[in-house]
Amino acid sequence: MSVRDNVLNKFREHFKAEPTLLARAPGRVNLIGEHTDYNDGFVLPAAIDRAVYVAARPRADWMITLVSVDFKAHASFDVDHLDDPDLPPWSKYPRGALWWLLQEGYDVPGFDAVIGGNIPLGSGLSSSAAVEVVMLELGLMMTGYADMPQVDKALAGVEVEHQFIGMPCGVMDQMASAMGVPGHALLIDCRSLETQEVPMPDGVSIVIMDTAKRRGLVDSEYALRREQCEIASERLGVAALRDATIPQLEGAKNRLEDVLYRRARHIITENTRVLATVAALRTGKLAEAGQLLRQSHISLRDDYQVSCTELDVISEIANAQPGCYGARMTGAGFGGCAVALVENSAVEAFVQAVVPAYTARTGLKPELYVTQACAGSGVEKL
Ligand code: ADP
Ligand code: MG
Repeated sequence: MSVRDNVLNKFREHFKAEPTLLARAPGRVNLIGEHTDYNDGFVLPAAIDRAVYVAARPRADWMITLVSVDFKAHASFDVDHLDDPDLPPWSKYPRGALWWLLQEGYDVPGFDAVIGGNIPLGSGLSSSAAVEVVMLELGLMMTGYADMPQVDKALAGVEVEHQFIGMPCGVMDQMASAMGVPGHALLIDCRSLETQEVPMPDGVSIVIMDTAKRRGLVDSEYALRREQCEIASERLGVAALRDATIPQLEGAKNRLEDVLYRRARHIITENTRVLATVAALRTGKLAEAGQLLRQSHISLRDDYQVSCTELDVISEIANAQPGCYGARMTGAGFGGCAVALVENSAVEAFVQAVVPAYTARTGLKPELYVTQACAGSGVEKL
């Protein structure tokens, strides 16, 4: 049964009534543009065909009951007690979205709802952003504001994550989830928040490869990279590394420690690669786009130093397969997922080859997800 139907059925079973609304928000994968977001740079994510759904029915009172298919649990609360610390932790992301709506003055009614999805949790495909966005879609529909621009829904999700969850994330995840377009990646300028839909050429699939290596180190190393980028941009005399160029960096080489030089070189070259990938995709040059993904991995591994053995191994195996245009680590690094662009006709053989080859070298069982770029979030009346 599809996830969508399962969520609808669970609603009928649990509440003995028909749901009246169904919202959906997808996960995302970043094709290229890693660690560029907090340097005011460019990212190129796509919404994937895995999503979180919520089926709901408004109530006459102020009670909210939320049933989680995936946590096999439910939470009941009223709109005045959204931040009650005794409520189950899994319900914090959906409650955060409702909290945002209330503090912005939206009159959220009571409702019954079932939430469930198939985005793996904590693998770097942004299940949390999908939960925020799906609840915002639902809440806005119930209050009559479903036509809020998708970009504003995304930015609301970012505020939930910053203010209610306490996670200082960038804008990419929520923007990809809310603004995805079928068959298109989304170029985001993380400074202006302008977006461009970039058509994916025909005949190519996105393959996500979860290394099964949990992301260790990531918080402290992430903070350190951010700090290094700030120092490097100060030394270069630019507002953010987005504004620096390679000639500028070379000119400042003797004023920068080697590590700062390399961090800055990754950011500068990565921004160039994102724009070059966009140009390659727009003209159907998949081999060229794939080559840029490969270069991105090398830069992340050697200059930015956020890869790990597992990400290197799976990318190397993927890059050696026939029909693979290019593969690289994706996300913050130190574990999590890699991403590959693979010719449709080669996908099956690709999956069959990569899984055992990776297990043989690491002892880990990877999960591979084959997807196309999918539509962003939405909500329908049933
Ligand atoms: P990710 O990298 O997938 O975003 P996070 O740790 O940021 O990982 O977010 C995972 C959290 O998001 C879960 O602990 C849970 O609270 C929430 N979440 C994700 N998917 C679901 C779901 N299907 N149902 C309910 N909550 C979910
Ligand atoms: Mg998250």
